[in-house]
Amino acid sequence: MKIVEPTVFELSAAGRTGFSLPASDVPEQPLDELLPARYRRSGLGLPEMSEIDVVRHFTRLSQMNFGVDTNFYPLGSCTMKYNPKINEEVAALSGLAELHPYQSNEDAQGALRLMYELQDFLAEITGMAAVSLQPAAGAQGELTGMLMVSAYHRARGDARRQVLVPDSAHGTNPASAHLAGMEVVSLSSDARGGVDLAALRSLAGSETAAIMLTVPNTLGLLDENLCQVTDIVHRCGGLVYCDGANLNALLGRARLGDLGCDLVQMNLHKTFSAPHGGGGPGAGPVAAREHLAPFLPAPLVAWHPGGYYLDYDRPQSIGRMRAFHGNFLVLVKAYAYIRSLGAEGLRRVSGDAVLNANYLLSRVRQAYDVPYDESCMHEFVASGRRQKAHGVRTLDITKRLMDFGFHPPTVYFPLIVEEALMIEPTETESRQELDRFADALLRIAAEAEQEPRKVQEAPHATRFGRMDEVAAARRPRLRWQPELAGE
Ligand SMILES: *Cc1c(COP(=O)(O)O)cnc(C)c1O
Repeated sequence: MKIVEPTVFELSAAGRTGFSLPASDVPEQPLDELLPARYRRSGLGLPEMSEIDVVRHFTRLSQMNFGVDTNFYPLGSCTMKYNPKINEEVAALSGLAELHPYQSNEDAQGALRLMYELQDFLAEITGMAAVSLQPAAGAQGELTGMLMVSAYHRARGDARRQVLVPDSAHGTNPASAHLAGMEVVSLSSDARGGVDLAALRSLAGSETAAIMLTVPNTLGLLDENLCQVTDIVHRCGGLVYCDGANLNALLGRARLGDLGCDLVQMNLHKTFSAPHGGGGPGAGPVAAREHLAPFLPAPLVAWHPGGYYLDYDRPQSIGRMRAFHGNFLVLVKAYAYIRSLGAEGLRRVSGDAVLNANYLLSRVRQAYDVPYDESCMHEFVASGRRQKAHGVRTLDITKRLMDFGFHPPTVYFPLIVEEALMIEPTETESRQELDRFADALLRIAAEAEQEPRKVQEAPHATRFGRMDEVAAARRPRLRWQPELAGE
């Protein structure tokens, strides 16, 4: 029997409450006399529940949840690594968690120092001159970068506004460039998954404001011609923006600033281990080379002999991207992560992330096509096209993976791979866990040939079977319906 949790409205019982108030010691007044009619409404239909009903309801719901703390979560391009619990302890310190954003500089020296040092660490990790911690997510960091590109060219009296975006870029890249008022020009990939140099040479010119490169790209590959690509763009006066959301592959080994990148955003909630997903808070700091630093969002955290302070005196800044100082506690978690791992630890992160991805790739390629089959970085993209020949789609394969307790990988992305299956194991998984996952994928490939229905109708072992995801998004029915709840 499936036990499905009713909604709070189903659990409601008339007259039940979760609180009690002391007897009133002032005369009662009818509400009608105090409240103008337009504010009065009856029959709101709010659920009436006791405290224990509420606690049990939400605790049961939380137990249906799936997360990195319960199971392997190889969601490509998302870096769902384990988040060390020491980060949470540090972020919960009351001096940090309860600090008010309007606190004076003198009262917030510790927090300002933490942000100042984090700016410094991130500048060193990326090989850049200056960092703004303001952007609240990777995509907002990209938008920040594009606004800076635009401001840079405008300051030079140059109206160029084309941004070249390879077809292997993350989907947010063209969206961010467009939002910043730039004109997006798509750039094709070559047979080895890198930027097609001939195409780049024919498109780059006096109109090129920038190129946006996801590094490593969404195929999990580091473009072998990266330095040539940045060189071609620089020669025509364009800037190189790198999407550094996947820095997990490069930490402590390669610095984007050394590879010709002018601007880069990092996703602290991926690479630097703050819990994310489900729309939770993130942080997408932007790092800039010397010539672009004046355009960073103000204020930056600065230091003078009087202490740490917020530097608003930045006349060329593009202005604020967000209220206050970004998602501060995400910054604290990233700081705790960097300090607890140290330089050697961060270098091991990227080493193990790349090793894990290549180990998994070496096991999976026995049964699945890998269109760009080279050694990968932190992730790789397989294809379910061989299984599709048996009527089993990549979506079915990933639903079947849920029966074995794994979160489905990213699917149908990047668009240049048919039936794409994008897998990122991260460095925090053991070899045993990777083997369990590879075994499941190989078994599903065998099932696709021998008993395709089993895969097509998956999942079988989860609380709910296959959902109609389109209907769920377009025509949500939020009322409790016992007939849908199983026997
Ligand atoms: C996750 C990701 C983004 C978007 O980051 P958000 O924080 O979700 O806005 C951008 N680019 C790449 C390569 C990513 O992996």
